[in-house]
Amino acid sequence: MTRQRLAILGATGSIGSSTLDVVARHPDRFELTTLSAHSQVDALVALCRRFRPARAVVSDPAAYAALRDGLADAGLDTEAHAGPEALEAAAEAADTDTVVAAIVGAAGMSSTLAAARAGKRILLANKESVVLAGDLLMREIRAHGARVLPVDSEHNAIFQCLPGDPAQRGGVRRVLLTASGGPFRGFTRAQLAGVTPEQACAHPNWSMGRKISVDSATLMNKGLEVIEAHWLFGLDRARIDVVVHPQSIVHSLVDYVDGSMLAQLGQPDMRTALAYGLAWPERIDSGVGTLDLAALGRLDFEAPDHATFPCLGLAYAALAAGGTAPAVLNAANEVAVSAFLQGRAGFLDIPALLQATLDALETHPADSLDATLAADAEARRVAGALLPRLAGQARPDTTYGTP
Ligand code: NAD
Ligand code: MG
Repeated sequence: MTRQRLAILGATGSIGSSTLDVVARHPDRFELTTLSAHSQVDALVALCRRFRPARAVVSDPAAYAALRDGLADAGLDTEAHAGPEALEAAAEAADTDTVVAAIVGAAGMSSTLAAARAGKRILLANKESVVLAGDLLMREIRAHGARVLPVDSEHNAIFQCLPGDPAQRGGVRRVLLTASGGPFRGFTRAQLAGVTPEQACAHPNWSMGRKISVDSATLMNKGLEVIEAHWLFGLDRARIDVVVHPQSIVHSLVDYVDGSMLAQLGQPDMRTALAYGLAWPERIDSGVGTLDLAALGRLDFEAPDHATFPCLGLAYAALAAGGTAPAVLNAANEVAVSAFLQGRAGFLDIPALLQATLDALETHPADSLDATLAADAEARRVAGALLPRLAGQARPDTTYGTP
């Protein structure tokens, strides 16, 4: 068997570690060409010792010397590279078949686009790049014969429940994304006013990076996933619904016109989706055990609470507005989440800042990379300027429109 040659961008993160866990179970199937991290040199060198990739990349140029010296001290012949251009070069490299896009945030966009332009197979975890540049990314994928395998668990579930041939998808009525509801499901706005980053990052079912954990707590993660589903599956927003399912066992569903609903179930462990993407169209052991349905006993479902968690509705509204609105939403969210994690904003300031930034900026067509990057930069600037004025002002009794 020829081994699949993998670049893992964001190798030191939660998705990166889960991917490497699956890869390590199948040394006959996979070899690593690139591992990347932002600036965590020690963690990256430790991964290089274990997995012996051809190259290691730190996107932070200031970390280059430490990486080069660390690899040399470890006696490895892994090449050291640094900077965003090195990340793009690794995504396009001729020695690589598959790029695992596991960087967090808009920082993952340029390497994901580079992988698309180079016609790679892309295991897509980095949902922010789809929210920011979905139209552009899907066009590059089609133009260059790249293939996206969604590994966000909901999109992976939908991908598993859809017919393989897009021409046979006419019978799909809608897709239904499941949301756990996060650690604050059932809270009132008054209760949310005082929650801490530690509480927000303590997800009841999934162990994930800090940014996506906060997004899960605000329901922004589900909002980003609605936009992601729109681009990945070419579905109008009216055909993308969300249902809260606290156990995170049903990972999402497809609703067909004949009344059938197909669902994918499994443990809340990202290795299942990653193994599916890694081996597709085959299946391999992921290290995740089977479900004991009798022991689970029950599965619960409820409607999302839009009034208490307005971020989901803001995402539907941004998708309806189209153009650069999703890019603005994503950028404002990255600013808001980072401020919340650093203690510079409260939990309720997150939706307030998103709303204020969307209100402050006009929507433009997102028809070029320049237009998209300009919208992202402008939204970060505006959100950064609005934040000190807003922080602490969001009142628990504020109400927002629902989608
Ligand atoms: P994480 O914070 O655990 O890891 C992020 C990785 O990206 C790290 O390797 C880090 O070094 C790298 N990185 C951070 N900032 C960077 C920058 N500016 N430039 C280049 N690299 C940078 O995040 P995660 O939880 O693994 O999430 C990664 C992506 O996958 C996110 O887009 C997230 O929404 C998505 N995702 C994660 C999960 C999950 O279970 N963790 C599930 C579904 C989707
Ligand atoms: Mg998800």
